[in-house]
Amino acid sequence: MSLGERWWVTIEPIPEDWREIEAVLRGERQEYTSQIPPLDPLPPAPECPKCKEPMEWIRYATDSESWRNLRGRGGYLAVCVPCQVWTPLRVMVMG
Ligand SMILES: [Zn+2]
Repeated sequence: MSLGERWWVTIEPIPEDWREIEAVLRGERQEYTSQIPPLDPLPPAPECPKCKEPMEWIRYATDSESWRNLRGRGGYLAVCVPCQVWTPLRVMVMG
């Protein structure tokens, strides 16, 4: 089975702030990001709009308060760390 764009839904505007991504990159939300299923293969990473280098896919999850309030979201987004640029969160649609 190949993963095309039809397997994704984009949810905006998550996250709103680069600090949210920094928290994920520091591993602070591993409890949640580790539950996001691995995607193999990942779709081609988009090009960073600033430096034109390929961006990097990361697993992203909202903070623990959101999960306590049953508003937690997890999925994939692409980041360029040097430029602090990111794409909207993509959540996989299961079938
Ligand atoms: Zn960049």
